[in-house]
Amino acid sequence: MSPSNFLSNPKKVSAICIGAGPAGLTAAYLLSRNGMTVTVLEQDPVYVGGISRTETYKGFAFDIGGHRFFSKSEEIEALWDEILDEGFLVRPRKSRIYYRQKLFDYPLRAMDALLKLGVFEAVRCVLSYAKARLFPIANPTNFEDWVTNKFGKRLFRIFFRT
Ligand SMILES: Cc1cc2nc3c(=O)[nH]c(=O)nc-3n(C[C@H](O)[C@H](O)[C@H](O)COP(=O)(O)OP(=O)(O)OC[C@H]3O[C@@H](n4cnc5c(N)ncnc54)[C@H](O)[C@@H]3O)c2cc1C
Repeated sequence: MSPSNFLSNPKKVSAICIGAGPAGLTAAYLLSRNGMTVTVLEQDPVYVGGISRTETYKGFAFDIGGHRFFSKSEEIEALWDEILDEGFLVRPRKSRIYYRQKLFDYPLRAMDALLKLGVFEAVRCVLSYAKARLFPIANPTNFEDWVTNKFGKRLFRIFFRT
């Protein structure tokens, strides 16, 4: 179907979204809101939500990682307001990363991380950070580039890559 046909009669178009993570579900929601028939195919036999899903174990609900909603995009905020009848629940957050038997503040705080990493590793991280500040990746296009620009390659490898 040509783009002009699609715009004049979106109901004739059906779409398949592969994966029921936030991206697939959002795409499906927006397409169906615009009149398309959408089928979402999810490989997981139980869950939707991708790595943002809530799992249950022995009757308790767990998120994978400390997921919270945050966005700098007004468009995304507006979409979530539209979906959530009762709006957002605001909660205080405290996140920490358990690494080498120590708890590191998350979001990372430079002094906290450097003190806990030990002198040798801290020096390497500071040098790596200085390099990132002096020679930032010009147009960061992915998470690794963005974190590297913000914290340096070494801290990316330690705390973010895996
Ligand atoms: C520990 C952790 C903490 C995080 N904290 C936050 C946070 O606080 N706030 C935040 O905004 N983001 C957070 N994120 C990031 C967020 O989880 C991801 O950005 C988001 O889940 C990505 O959504 P997605 O739909 O692109 O991919 P995914 O969530 O990975 O979903 C992909 C889906 O596609 C399915 N799939 C894959 N291949 C196929 C196939 N061939 N056929 C059918 N189905 C398929 C998968 O089973 C999965 O359900 C966090 C991530 C992690 C790991």
